[in-house]
Amino acid sequence: MKINVTRSSMPPYKEYCEEIKNLWDSRWLTNSGSKHMELEKQLCKYLKTDNVSLFLNGHTALELALNALNLEGEVITTPYTFISTTQAVVRNNLTPVFCDIREDDYTIDADKIESLITEKTCAILPVHVYGSVCDYKKIDEIAKKYNLKVIYDAAHAFGIEIDGKGIGTLGDISMFSFHATKVFHTVEGGGLTYSDNNLTPILKKLRQYGMRGQEEVTLVGTNAKMTEMHAAMGLCNLKHIDEEISKRKKAFDRYIERLNDVQGLKLFKIGKDVKHNYSYFPVVFDGYKYSRDEVADILVRNDIFARKYFYPLTSEFEVFQNRFEIQSTPIAKSVSEKVLTLPLYADLSVEEVDKICDLILG
Ligand SMILES: *Cc1c(COP(=O)(O)O)cnc(C)c1O
Repeated sequence: MKINVTRSSMPPYKEYCEEIKNLWDSRWLTNSGSKHMELEKQLCKYLKTDNVSLFLNGHTALELALNALNLEGEVITTPYTFISTTQAVVRNNLTPVFCDIREDDYTIDADKIESLITEKTCAILPVHVYGSVCDYKKIDEIAKKYNLKVIYDAAHAFGIEIDGKGIGTLGDISMFSFHATKVFHTVEGGGLTYSDNNLTPILKKLRQYGMRGQEEVTLVGTNAKMTEMHAAMGLCNLKHIDEEISKRKKAFDRYIERLNDVQGLKLFKIGKDVKHNYSYFPVVFDGYKYSRDEVADILVRNDIFARKYFYPLTSEFEVFQNRFEIQSTPIAKSVSEKVLTLPLYADLSVEEVDKICDLILG
């Protein structure tokens, strides 16, 4: 049996069928239907945030978040992320400025942000990578001091709380991905959370061709709506999310139990005052008897597909070379060459975790 790095959660088949049944009567399949509205409402509650706007995927949500804030110039961000983060910046005709990360939790090093600020800087785009909560207090301080917007890529951070606050309440806007491989999903989907109510009508227009009502177009928009079928999947998955997260925790805890205190392995640490979601299990192989690539090969030979998240850095992709200045980020570079993200999903059994650990410890 193959073990992949992740495996999509599915609600009971009957529950989904039940949820979508009335669509055959209503024939209202998209454009802010009742399931869409209900999911927004339930997500506000679950994520403990004032507003949630839904989109057809997380990436487009992030592009439109930057768009909605009317940004121009440079955005300070991290190269230690999925390519989507950097693409969202570039596709808004903004220039990414890459800041290094912290060695302990892999998030943007807030102490290095200020030295990258120029008169063109308009925003900071940090990533709560693997669900590590960014140094939001320091980021907030800097943003206030220089009048910058803060948009969090919270794609990995569904359901995380810090000091009892929903993680989506940080910064101006946070983006959550509801892609099939994420902790909570709508097959494809994404959401933005924010406290400024004025953003709601702008985001609504942006995801609906810039239209206001049926006869007015006031913004240059696109089509980025979530359908009722996808919202229905979200409603079903949301019913089981706490159970899913606690199943993930079992596998996560077993990894810790087996790999803790092994010389040359650096494990993920959950920050204090954080309610975590057990989304990923990254291990940094630094001075271990096998290199990261050797461990990946051993696992592949046993039909286990861990992933080199995040390698290479987004700043290293060919498409960005010679387009703008690429800052050097030595810590991010070093981590990206040593990290392997091990399989982790709700159905991953303790026996499977043991098999993976036996191979790594071999
Ligand atoms: C998954 C992901 C995205 C993109 O989300 P989609 O819903 O797949 O478009 C963006 N950023 C990060 C860090 C991600 O992991």
